[in-house]
Amino acid sequence: MIPLVYHPDTRLTTVAGEVKTIDQDLAALTRSMVETMHGEKGIGLAGPQVGRMDRLFVVHVPNDEPRVFINPRIVAASPDEGAYEEGCLSIPGVYADIRRPLEITVEAYNEAGDPFRLDADGILARVIQHEYDHLDGVLFIDRLTQRKRERLLKSYRAPLRSRAEADAGADDGHGHERAQEHAHERVDGYARESMDTTDSERGGGGPQSSSKWDRS
Ligand SMILES: [Zn+2]
Repeated sequence: MIPLVYHPDTRLTTVAGEVKTIDQDLAALTRSMVETMHGEKGIGLAGPQVGRMDRLFVVHVPNDEPRVFINPRIVAASPDEGAYEEGCLSIPGVYADIRRPLEITVEAYNEAGDPFRLDADGILARVIQHEYDHLDGVLFIDRLTQRKRERLLKSYRAPLRSRAEADAGADDGHGHERAQEHAHERVDGYARESMDTTDSERGGGGPQSSSKWDRS
């Protein structure tokens, strides 16, 4: 397990760099990331979320196998969009409906260094876009209006320490407690399908108004 990086850590709002070499070390990193994602009960995890400012992420959605995306590029997106409720391992306990294209095509390299092209829809398309945003320093809350973002974050408190640190330290176990308390919510990229599209927010005052969004 690799300790997670939590909002408002600035690594989450920094654009990650291209991976230059896909070697055994990088492959080992992706395995650790998959392990961490599983341990945190997430379905996606991006490099910056574990403090690696490299353009890579891992994804594992139900009824699928773990997938690794290195230097990904979303080369096509459907005009059809939909709202789903998203959450993020780096912002535990915070959820919001986010509109995104329903189908995408992504090109990337896998951990063996082989290029591939993937057409994705459903939850896979959703989580790939969420993770891809992480590589550009964009969080799902950045896709909300400022008002809604502030309201959502009002009760948010970043975990005081990572689970790994709590495991190693002589603490009161707060880290464990919190992890357990939120175990059912610690889903990256997706929490549950929402049929309510009226509450989603996009455009006016959305990403464009965020300073982070200016980077991408
Ligand atoms: Zn996330």
